[in-house]
This record gives sequence, C-alpha cells and structure tokens, in this order.
Amino acid sequence: MTDFLVLEKNSGLGGTWYENRYPGCACGIRIALYSLSFEQRRNWTRDYATQKEMLKYLKDVSQKWNVPRYIRLNSTVLEAHWDDHKLQRRSRFPPMAFRVQSSRHTSSRPTSLCASAVQIVPELAKTASQLTIYQRSPKWIVPRKDRSISRAEKNLLTWFSPLRWLKRAVPMWLRESVHAYITNPDYSQTQIDWVLRWMKARVPNKPEGWDALTSRYPLGCTRILV
Ligand SMILES: Cc1cc2nc3c(=O)[nH]c(=O)nc-3n(C[C@H](O)[C@H](O)[C@H](O)COP(=O)(O)OP(=O)(O)OC[C@H]3O[C@@H](n4cnc5c(N)ncnc54)[C@H](O)[C@@H]3O)c2cc1C
Repeated sequence: MTDFLVLEKNSGLGGTWYENRYPGCACGIRIALYSLSFEQRRNWTRDYATQKEMLKYLKDVSQKWNVPRYIRLNSTVLEAHWDDHKLQRRSRFPPMAFRVQSSRHTSSRPTSLCASAVQIVPELAKTASQLTIYQRSPKWIVPRKDRSISRAEKNLLTWFSPLRWLKRAVPMWLRESVHAYITNPDYSQTQIDWVLRWMKARVPNKPEGWDALTSRYPLGCTRILV
C-alpha cells in the first residue's frame, strides 16, 4: 500500500518518544520485546532502552522503510469526516476528509502518569534537596532489573543470530506464563507477598508508609510498574 498520508502535528516523527524527554525517560518493557520483531538491533546499550535510543531507532527504521515520504509534519488534524459518497464512487481518494492546521511547535510536557513517575523520580532524587510525591492511588511496582549490555554480548548478538531470537522469545514466553500465574488467585498471593517483601526492603525505615505503597487491586488488574 502506497497511497496514504500520515498527518503529524509535531515537527519530527517518533510520537511518544519524540515528545517525552524528561530525565530517566525510557521504555517500560524490555526493548527486545518493544522493538519490531523484524527489526531487532544488536547494539542497544541497555535492556530497557532510553528515550534517546528509542527515538534514534524509530528514525532509522522509518528511513529504512521509506516512511518519512508518507508523513506530513507540522500538520495538526482538527477534524475528520467519513464520506460515504466517495467510498461508493470508488474514488481514488480515501473517503475521509481532514481539516488540517499547519503548526510549528515542539511540545515536551512532563506527564503525570505514574509509569513515568517511577522513571523520573529516581533521577530527580539524585540532585533534589527535597522531593515531595503526590500519589492518588498506589500501584504495584516490581524491580526493573535493567542492565547495560556489554560489548561481548553485543558481539555475540551480532554473530550468533539465534541469540537475538532467544532474547526476544524468552521474555515473551515468560510474560505469557506469568500472566496465567498471576491471574490465578491460588498463586497470585505468592507473587504479592514477594512484591511486598521487596517494597518493604526498599523502605525499611518507614513502616508507616508501607500501607500507602500497597495497591488495593489484585496483581495484574492495573498496570504493573517497573
Ligand atoms: C515514557 C513512556 C514510556 C512508555 N513505555 C511503554 C512501554 O514500555 N510499552 C508500551 O507498550 N507502551 C509504552 N508507552 C506508551 C506509548 O505511548 C506507546 O508504546 C506508543 O508510543 C504508542 O504509539 P502510538 O503511535 O499509538 O501513539 P504516539 O506515540 O503517542 O503517537 C501519536 C502521534 O499522533 C500525533 N497526533 C496526535 N494528535 C494529532 C492531531 N490531532 N493531528 C496530527 N497528529 C496528531 C502525535 O503528535 C504523535 O506523534 C510509553 C509511554 C511513555 C510516555
């Protein structure tokens, strides 16, 4: 399919990864999973890629697949209408009418989503003399277990391609398995106990805060933060 146009309000492609540039901004799941199965990279620096790397990846992949020629930047869609007449006449134009506004601005507004808060707060805490966090409802948080990828591992991934496949397949399989496990009430308590033990070990001197950090929902009912 070549007869299409992507209207983009920003002045660059990348969407979320273009707009969000706060300290600590990174992919919330392993990059081997988040990146496209047919465009796996051997040179990610971390298991959870940073926003900078994500944006570069998206630019590189879109260049490779010739996507930018279909994107009109700085074009905000104001309205969209479906036109049945054009569809019936089999017009070569899509049966959709857009009202577009040209816009030249960059937007980089901080988000208050807690998935982003778990990334930005540790970064701010490194330099802030005091940091106050307002929380509406507690979420389950599990350790991210991020790590940098060594040169040796990158070489292995480059020269031994089944390893790249495994790096994506194993976390995929684990996630699928864990899903069945945590949604089964017979087993989910074991997981919850483990998460709570981990949380308490992180803030051992503040037992008065433990309750505020304990989600009221079963594990997996709302997004688990890493
Ligand atoms: C810090 C962060 C980490 C994240 N991590 C993960 C993760 O690990 N896993 C996961 O699955 N998801 C994650 N997300 C969610 C993320 O938004 C999605 O993964 C993904 O970016 C969604 O892609 P999208 O194309 O649907 O939306 P977006 O990336 O938001 O792209 C939408 C595009 O539409 C454009 N647009 C919007 N309105 C208009 C308009 N009226 N006219 C013209 N253009 C318009 C926007 O400018 C943008 O470029 C994360 C989000 C953030 C902020």
